[in-house]
Amino acid sequence: MENMQQPRLSRRHFLLGGGCACAASLTGCLSTNRATGRNTFTGFYSIEDDIALGRQEHPKLVKQFGGEYDDPRLQRYVEQIGFKAAQFTEYQFPYKFTIVNSPIINAFALPGGFVYLSRGLLSLASNEAEVAGVLAHELGHVNARHTAERISQSQLAQLGIGVLGLALGNTAVTNALGQVAGLAIQGHSRDQELEADTLGIRYMSRAGYDPDGSVSFLATLREHSMLEAEMNGLPPGSVDEFNIMATHPRTVERVRLAQQHAAEVNVSNAIIGRDPHLGAINGMLYGDDPEQGIIDGNTFVHGPLRFEFTVPDDFLLRNSPTRIAATHQQGAIILFDMAKTDRNRSMLSYIRNVWAPQARFSDAEKLRIDGADAATALTQGNGNGGQVDIRPVAIRGDGETVFRFLFVSPAGASSRFSEGFRRTTYSFRRLSPSEASAIHGRRLVVAPAQPGDSAAALAQTMPFGKFNERAFRVLNDLGPNDNLSPGQLLKIIAA
Ligand SMILES: [Zn+2]
Repeated sequence: MENMQQPRLSRRHFLLGGGCACAASLTGCLSTNRATGRNTFTGFYSIEDDIALGRQEHPKLVKQFGGEYDDPRLQRYVEQIGFKAAQFTEYQFPYKFTIVNSPIINAFALPGGFVYLSRGLLSLASNEAEVAGVLAHELGHVNARHTAERISQSQLAQLGIGVLGLALGNTAVTNALGQVAGLAIQGHSRDQELEADTLGIRYMSRAGYDPDGSVSFLATLREHSMLEAEMNGLPPGSVDEFNIMATHPRTVERVRLAQQHAAEVNVSNAIIGRDPHLGAINGMLYGDDPEQGIIDGNTFVHGPLRFEFTVPDDFLLRNSPTRIAATHQQGAIILFDMAKTDRNRSMLSYIRNVWAPQARFSDAEKLRIDGADAATALTQGNGNGGQVDIRPVAIRGDGETVFRFLFVSPAGASSRFSEGFRRTTYSFRRLSPSEASAIHGRRLVVAPAQPGDSAAALAQTMPFGKFNERAFRVLNDLGPNDNLSPGQLLKIIAA
């Protein structure tokens, strides 16, 4: 043991240690972290356990975030930055850097050196130093072993997961109600974020990157998040629950504070690396991957699976590889996914006997939707915020396929949402092969501004209607009144 000093034990430590025989072996529970210098409670999780846990969770996490984004050149670019910063970490984990195929701006890490960032984040970043800031921050969480701390705590703390998911045998509901699967993608505490920032700034500056990259990217994130909220008719910042601001809640002020704490912020000839970054992201997929379905306003369209539906205007629609969720500010949720059942089973029998055999239903009825057998019923359950009404709708697809909606609203508010839920149900329709094949994705292209180009004109190919110019300016790190100068490299979206 390096640290023989008797650890000061609070009542909390004893409570946390209750399940792991810590009273008998206190030193096994508290150890000094080389990155943070703190005595941390990591239970009996060793560095090797971190690595084993990361290896075990890695495939699941990649799948949950749309799989790996397959672009060897972009992969090499990210690795080159990541490994350069990782040289300066306190623990030598077998580091692995993965780009996930998600348009949402996100980054996270698993214990044991597994670091992830989304292609959405890469498209929004302006230079290498910003990417280095994100990767180094994640390396900070890994080296401070924040997830091990959380695992040790959550083993003993009751997380209070809603029983709604259990009632319907559907974890999708639980997840969508705010319980995110996997500790890696849960938010960290304020102190952990500050610590990851301090460590991240240490690693990136030792690697020669301009530490201001972490501040400038955070400022861009705020702009992006405010724009996204406004596009969805929500108050500023309220869409943050699904993106990097949820997993790493930070402010520019706190990152500046971390910069002051970091010892080596004066990097001579610091790397910013704008041109190499733009070269690396040139040609990458932008926005939704058509293979996973595309959100077009309030309509979700899936080309390969040939269907579409539309949610009410006041719902915010989100896609993930396993389900589609639309949320309302007043707590209502629409979930959509697909399942399989035997070909001869009626949809009414499917709801009662297969989907939710434990639930008590009222108002069960057969429906006809887009010419197909369908059914619905009504039940009640508990969400995180209290009692909810749950209306499943099952629609027969090809062969064994079932298309499933789950309409959830706070108890007593059903009448406010029922008409919108009904319209959503009947908006479901199958696409013809030609309609399906006409759906394609967008690409990000880097090109120099030509004399006479304006942000407004170049923004016309973006998918955000009246928000196009603002989105273009955020993407290109341009202020509201900045003019373009000929030759300036820009990220342009090719429709
Ligand atoms: Zn963080």
